[in-house]
Amino acid sequence: MLVSVTLALVTPWNVDEWSLSSAQSARPTALDAVERAVDTVLAGVQGVALGEVSPWERESIAVARRLRARLDSFATAGDCRRCWLQRAHCVCVDCPTIAWREPAPLRRIFVLMSHKEVVLAVDTAKLVCAAYSNRAVLVVGGLGCQPLWDEMVASLTAGTAAILYPSDDAWEIDDVFHGEDAPRDLVVIDGTWSQAAALHRRLPPSAPRVRLPADTLADIATNGRQLRHHPEMWREISTLTAVSAVAAKLDLHPDRPDALLRYQAIADAAARRQLGPVRISEKRRARAAQ
Ligand SMILES: [Zn+2]
Repeated sequence: MLVSVTLALVTPWNVDEWSLSSAQSARPTALDAVERAVDTVLAGVQGVALGEVSPWERESIAVARRLRARLDSFATAGDCRRCWLQRAHCVCVDCPTIAWREPAPLRRIFVLMSHKEVVLAVDTAKLVCAAYSNRAVLVVGGLGCQPLWDEMVASLTAGTAAILYPSDDAWEIDDVFHGEDAPRDLVVIDGTWSQAAALHRRLPPSAPRVRLPADTLADIATNGRQLRHHPEMWREISTLTAVSAVAAKLDLHPDRPDALLRYQAIADAAARRQLGPVRISEKRRARAAQ
């Protein structure tokens, strides 16, 4: 009972609504903009010969078709559009919206996601959009007709956005997001390491890159692993965990500094319940034994 009362106090909307499937499906989520883009791309394909479109448009059409099929089966299954888990494992009541302090050093977070991550149960970046619902938006790589993509690129080109990416020339994040001329938006890339690298190459090279300090990485690498694994420990850090470290560095919600990190644990546990035990490949088992 105490938990329910606490949630009600910190949540801008009524938590009870999330237990009502009709209210839940009607509530706006980050997926809505993606679905609109998918439908716009596919509507524009009618009567168009694929041989006549540019490679970029061809990719967009292919991505839209794959997403349409996946979103249709997602809708048929009736999974939660906010946390992308089955209704029986939905974590939304335990992961309500987190408000930022005002004024905040950030205006928006663009979650730039590989299309292969969209509606995956093990993806964690969707919770960034859910937790920061009025601040974080979802953009899908390779998909056209996304006004939010245009806004993201415009902000990067104008120098008002930085990209969280550990390139050699990246600045430490708290050296960049301070002062009057500081960028106001942050782009975070979500996908496997190779997907993230491919998405990163498409972003304006002139935009500043920022990274988390080495001590922060070492700390969260040992405490905030995700379900998928990589031989290099820092590459195992999920998008959600990285954003929670950014939130701590920039003091975005000082009254609940660990809230987003707690969501990671809640979402991981729910995904494991839904998917069953993590399967470790023979290759990885052999590597771990070395
Ligand atoms: Zn949910």
